[in-house]
Amino acid sequence: MSVSPQKKCYSVTPPSCSMDEYLQRLRDGSLKLYALEGELSPAEAVRVRRRYIEGETGVSLGKVGSYTIDIDRVAHKNCENMIGAVQVPVGVAGPLKVSGEYATGEFYLPLATTEGALVASVNRGCGAITRAGGAEVRILRDGMTRAPVFAARSVAHAREVADWVAANVDALARAAEATTSHGKFLGAVTTVVGTSVFVRMEFDTKDAMGMNMVTIGSEKAAELIASATGAHLVALSGNLCTDKKPAAVNVVRGRGRSVCAGVWLDDALISSVFKTDARTMAEVNRRKNLVGSAAAGSLGFNAHAANVVAAMFIACGQDPAHVTEGSMAITTVDEGEGGLYVAVTLPDLPVGTVGGGTGVETQAECLALLGVAGGGRPPGSNARKFAEILAAGVLAGELSLLGALAAQHLARAHRTLGR
Ligand code: NAP
Repeated sequence: MSVSPQKKCYSVTPPSCSMDEYLQRLRDGSLKLYALEGELSPAEAVRVRRRYIEGETGVSLGKVGSYTIDIDRVAHKNCENMIGAVQVPVGVAGPLKVSGEYATGEFYLPLATTEGALVASVNRGCGAITRAGGAEVRILRDGMTRAPVFAARSVAHAREVADWVAANVDALARAAEATTSHGKFLGAVTTVVGTSVFVRMEFDTKDAMGMNMVTIGSEKAAELIASATGAHLVALSGNLCTDKKPAAVNVVRGRGRSVCAGVWLDDALISSVFKTDARTMAEVNRRKNLVGSAAAGSLGFNAHAANVVAAMFIACGQDPAHVTEGSMAITTVDEGEGGLYVAVTLPDLPVGTVGGGTGVETQAECLALLGVAGGGRPPGSNARKFAEILAAGVLAGELSLLGALAAQHLARAHRTLGR
């Protein structure tokens, strides 16, 4: 029997074989694991596949097999060869007062984590920010990128390709935008290395994180470049995008939502919440986040931005691989009269409130907690609101850890809460 893995005709009639017959067909190779959905409803396919893996490995997967999410949806859109789901505890930190252009008010941040002390730490930072009057947040720029790589015949031909791209941006925009009703082509930056030509195309993806949208649009634009210039399209992604890798190009040019959040903390608040003083916190930031990160050759000049980015990404259905990008934040501390202005700058935060994992029910609930589930009115406003809240959450995490280090309290918190 041959069943196409692409075929999404889920049966609503009872399965034609018994569980034992399906297991036997999987064992003898006449039915492939990935093809189960061709014969069974997603829920039944997941059950048979899990039973098969349990039999092959001798490992019980009863807990993985217990979940509340809608399998029909996720097996179709989010995950192949499903056997169930893992559960990650979700805690809340807040209320966190945010004064952004899209997010205004107090929010409870959903944080999915198994790192004891993390939620408590972010919660302390949220309390400090809210007492201080809230975090100011601004989106600095907004654009998701894809950079195909072309092979030119010579360096002279490579320059011709770059010149053609610069002269034909409108044609590229028309080709790319024909593939989407939401995406807008923002521009293209070309980099030539010998005979390799990289065209980094940037799109406003509205409420979508946009990697699928941008990849589909870029393909049409790349085909146009190849046919007009004779350059060979080697790969639709040439790594100058740069997707899911830490990269300086994303810090310098921005990728996804580029966001900045800051707060003024006066001496009294620093002393009562963090049990330290402004000078000590500033010195920890300078020597650890700036000098230490420079000495390490790090792309993240921060204390632990990845902690908040990862926990909120997992809770809210973002692509967790993008934590590699979201963690490239810079934390700055300006000493002033009677206090400190602490800010985080996140140049590369790929987030969305539609598409990808955002529709999985538990994740959609977490987005709803922030008032950003689904498409915004106008389109783009929900994703920008989410990015602003997330940046304020990162600021809360940074403040709390800087404070704990300044007061020499870090190990104590982890001894009490994390073990
Ligand atoms: P998607 O799941 O492809 O859905 C995005 C689509 O939703 C848009 O293209 C748009 O359709 C539609 N949409 C409806 N309302 C919208 C609104 N208010 N704003 C914007 N779009 C709206 O999601 P995606 O964000 O493009 O891609 C995310 C997925 O890509 C994740 O699952 C991620 O893991 C994966 N990913 C893919 C790649 C890749 O290379 N393809 C790389 C990394 C990650 P129209 O375009 O028709 O308007």
